[in-house]
Amino acid sequence: MENKLDGNAAAGTLQEIFPFEMTLAQVTCTGCGTTNVIGATAAYMHGMGTIVRCPVCDTVLIRVVHARGRYWLDMRGVRVLEISVEA
Ligand SMILES: [Zn+2]
Repeated sequence: MENKLDGNAAAGTLQEIFPFEMTLAQVTCTGCGTTNVIGATAAYMHGMGTIVRCPVCDTVLIRVVHARGRYWLDMRGVRVLEISVEA
């Protein structure tokens, strides 16, 4: 059972890991080369964790699993993660 949401939902999870404003972080997809802000991606939330997919080609960009007090982050679908630290 999973729920498709927009990337802002996944940003909430990523916010627990990264000390940056993650809705505005940009990811470049390894599948198609498109760059999107995380808030504009597609997020699938389910019991085991969160999956962020490219809105253009559906490549899995990021998988986050949170269990037993740890996070596992699989970012093989991200060619570049760009984080703005400007206020
Ligand atoms: Zn893509």
